[in-house]
Amino acid sequence: MFNNNPPFPPATELRNERVRFQRLSAGYPGRPVLHQLSAAIPPLAMTALVGPNGSGKSTLLGVLAGVITATSGQLRYAEGSPPAFVPQRGAVGDTLPLTARQTVEMGRWGQRGLWRRLTRTDRTAVDSAMERLGVADLGARQLGELSGGQRQRVLIAQGLAQQSDLLLLDEPTTGLDPEARERITALLTDLVADGTTVVQATHDLDAARSADACLLLADGRLIGQGSPEEVLTPEALARIWQPA
Ligand code: ADP
Repeated sequence: MFNNNPPFPPATELRNERVRFQRLSAGYPGRPVLHQLSAAIPPLAMTALVGPNGSGKSTLLGVLAGVITATSGQLRYAEGSPPAFVPQRGAVGDTLPLTARQTVEMGRWGQRGLWRRLTRTDRTAVDSAMERLGVADLGARQLGELSGGQRQRVLIAQGLAQQSDLLLLDEPTTGLDPEARERITALLTDLVADGTTVVQATHDLDAARSADACLLLADGRLIGQGSPEEVLTPEALARIWQPA
């Protein structure tokens, strides 16, 4: 899962960067998507990955999470735990016969292995992640029965249960009502304050504007990086979102 390939220099060389990538290209068989991206993810901060549908946000998160292998370029991580990845809600089968608690417990499989019993430490990590997301009382419910906002909180709890200091989320607030959105945004802000580095792909410009750093993607290319004020200018937004 953890993509820290030996050709890259040792992790400790990164200063004030949790992840750095250089000339990173990636995609799917016969379908190049990301082209020569170079950027850094600041530590202990919220980075928003912004761009239209199909611009490559999920693919970049997949590469950072280690589930998609880059075809070229460099990817380096500062010292810390392997990233925890919360995929898009739609990518997780709603019909899987899993309870909310079992879903969160899957976050511990990386530590424990698929067929080993969960230890007390695992159960404590699961309990505290569920408490933190306000889903402790939903533990016995089937995932498919939950509302979109509840399901999203369960998935974030699964990420949190991994107890990583690097949390990657794919559109955690998309499709939710404003209250659920605000709740998740506030939670992510708290996680950063508590020492987590958060990267979220988002369509929500309010969430992006409140992030510490922004990466703007269009057509698999990085067309802006820096503070939200620097990156999310009216000109840049018009360029990527207005019909041609
Ligand atoms: P975003 O998250 O910004 O919507 P994605 O990274 O999901 O963008 O997609 C970027 C491009 O990669 C799109 O053109 C999409 O169709 C393509 N793509 C995404 N997943 C796959 C896949 N599993 N196989 C082939 N192409 C894919």
